[in-house]
Amino acid sequence: MKPDAIDWSQLPFGYLPLPTRYEARYIDGAWQERGLVQEAEIVLSESAAVFQYAQTCFEGLKAYATADGQVVIFRPELNAQRMIDTCRRLVMPEITVEMFIKGVELVIRDNAAYVPPYGSGAQLYLRPFLMGSSPVLGVRPADEYIFRVFGTPVGPYFKGGIKPITLAVSEYDRAAPHGTGHVKGGLNYAMSLYPGYMAKQKGYAENVYLDALTNTKVEETGGANIFFITNDGKFVTPKSPTILPSVTRRSLVTVAADYLGMVVEEREVLLSELSDFAECGLCGTAAVVTPVGAIDNHGTWINFPSGMESPGAICNQLYDTLTGIQMGRISAPAGWIHRVI
Ligand SMILES: *Cc1c(COP(=O)(O)O)cnc(C)c1O
Repeated sequence: MKPDAIDWSQLPFGYLPLPTRYEARYIDGAWQERGLVQEAEIVLSESAAVFQYAQTCFEGLKAYATADGQVVIFRPELNAQRMIDTCRRLVMPEITVEMFIKGVELVIRDNAAYVPPYGSGAQLYLRPFLMGSSPVLGVRPADEYIFRVFGTPVGPYFKGGIKPITLAVSEYDRAAPHGTGHVKGGLNYAMSLYPGYMAKQKGYAENVYLDALTNTKVEETGGANIFFITNDGKFVTPKSPTILPSVTRRSLVTVAADYLGMVVEEREVLLSELSDFAECGLCGTAAVVTPVGAIDNHGTWINFPSGMESPGAICNQLYDTLTGIQMGRISAPAGWIHRVI
């Protein structure tokens, strides 16, 4: 699709192949860079480790067109480091931070016409991913790997812009203690498809998962971290070793404390205390800051005072400040903004 045929304001959160992508291959114990390539398809052995045992991981970040005509990415070192942490857990060769950022930059620059314009509400989403590409039969890691970065222009993840959504407390577990909840491996998403599908069938936007050990503490949703605002204006977000360490959540902690002057608490959050909070929201690269109006705990509803009609005042401030920093309207903490164009 040619860029001038795209209606930026109507873009879904979906895949649209761009002209080029970045690729590196790990062969004989070393990374070999192929640089930008044209093929969107990858041909692999039917017995590749990614197909048989889901040896694959990914990252997600966005390129933003700023008010003054630049194109920037947001804290990409944190995504690169998280992918390295995931690689270790899945016995995959580690990429380097440099290779990761170079791949992202090359894809953005070579596909610059596909960066949605400032103010359109859309961004260029970058999807770096890594997979075991050589054949295995017994359960073991692959010998060869492919690292790719592709880009695709996207609109909002949750339809309807910044409008409150409803969540359902899931009866399923997302992450076991000492499991893989803290890494971005494909395996965590395969097992979330069924509970996610069931939640959407019943009209919820997403599931919220509890800790698998005690089923009393709120963890996160299938693809976004969660936070709460207390009646006296504190920012509260769950602390748990089985939560995916969201770059957005780690940034909102700073935005809340340093930009909005809020008290921040990173602590265990009990399901039983949710009805005490004034506001609730999801956060992630795709979700940005999505207000949550209500949570259904198996028939008992938690209705946040901010309601279903419009976002709570603090969710709004968090959204405006974070996106203001990302799009250059508000000055960023040192090192947060990485200029690409
Ligand atoms: C990717 C992801 C997030 C969001 O992380 P960001 O770095 O903010 O994009 C949150 N939870 C899960 C389970 C995720 O996979």
